[in-house]
Amino acid sequence: MLQTPAYAAADGASPLAPFTIERREPRAHEVLIDILYCGVCHSDIHQARDEWGGNGIFPMVPGHEIVGRVVQIGDRVNKFKVGDAVGVGCFVDSCRVCPQCKSGEEQLCDQGMTATYNSRERDSKAPTYGGYSTRITVDEDYVLRIPESIPLDRAAPLLCAGITTYSPLKYYGVKAGDALAVVGLGGLGHMAVKIAVAMGAKVTVLSTSQNKRDDALALGAHAFAATREAATFKTLAGTFDFILDTVSAPHDYNAYLSLLKANGTMILVGIPDQPAPVAAGVLIMRRRKLVGSLIGGIRETQEMLDFCAAHGIASDIELIDIAQINGAYVRMIKGDVKYRFVIDTASLNAAG
Ligand code: NAP
Ligand code: ZN
Ligand code: ZN
Repeated sequence: MLQTPAYAAADGASPLAPFTIERREPRAHEVLIDILYCGVCHSDIHQARDEWGGNGIFPMVPGHEIVGRVVQIGDRVNKFKVGDAVGVGCFVDSCRVCPQCKSGEEQLCDQGMTATYNSRERDSKAPTYGGYSTRITVDEDYVLRIPESIPLDRAAPLLCAGITTYSPLKYYGVKAGDALAVVGLGGLGHMAVKIAVAMGAKVTVLSTSQNKRDDALALGAHAFAATREAATFKTLAGTFDFILDTVSAPHDYNAYLSLLKANGTMILVGIPDQPAPVAAGVLIMRRRKLVGSLIGGIRETQEMLDFCAAHGIASDIELIDIAQINGAYVRMIKGDVKYRFVIDTASLNAAG
């Protein structure tokens, strides 16, 4: 076993602190990856603080936006070689036999995907540990190739924020000229703007305050409105074909649904820790749809990475040392990050 420095939350009430984990030598179909960068997703905060139902597995090493280089391969690996730039996203295994796994939508596995952290290995039931660490061993079928043109630190957030926004835009059929509102300009939101603009959508950012107006337009959005200003909901009523809701905290879905045209679709990707009521009338009267989406499968994640490379898209990041992680969580909750924190995992060697 390989002793590996990491940062972990001891329980849902504790800040993250240094912790040592063991990674295994690669088995026949596995690669050992030296992690260079790991993005900080709001899902890391929800889980490290045990906000989703209180059944988190602790100690927890978060991190599912992992980029690094292959340093060792198993005997039967044929997709990757030592030195390749690779990524690992939100899951590292799945049942491989259910209809979703067979069709490349492993995130929807009937038996549940094995999440990169806060989950259990399918065989040993050992806890999985994420990317706030210096290396990880993963089956080659669950590893992505990072295109050469994307800087590795700015590629890390694509592994979750990128695919979580790309996949529903494709699946629900957002096309050139469609009016799309992106709600919440955080890590997911800023990727949604870049990707949707590249797909030709007419993008409006709906952000709580006016603070991010200039940024939104610089990211390529065509319009911007502040949702704490009541006039916004009057002016924009019935104007969008699609709404992509990336908000991490409880908010009034009905107010946003009223912004959809007839037959419009509101897609939830943000996962607040509390349920919110939905009024039947707001859906029924204009035959609106309220739907959800979960990350994306391995094949589509590779497609998204190649799409981003082709369109010159990468994440806007603030690179941090691991010692800054608890402060970064506080800043993210305040909406104070432009637009994704990424951990330089070299700092874990220093911290360890
Ligand atoms: P983030 O960077 O913290 O961004 C969330 C944004 O939500 C904030 O920047 C803010 O935007 C907005 N917001 C926060 N509190 C709000 C409130 N009370 N009312 C209205 N807007 C508010 O988070 P993220 O990493 O993008 O993740 C967003 C959510 O998606 C999280 O719940 C995360 O768990 C979830 N997620 C889901 C999937 C999936 O597969 N479905 C994958 C990854 C993440 P403004 O400052 O612009 O108002
Ligand atoms: Zn995530
Ligand atoms: Zn499956």
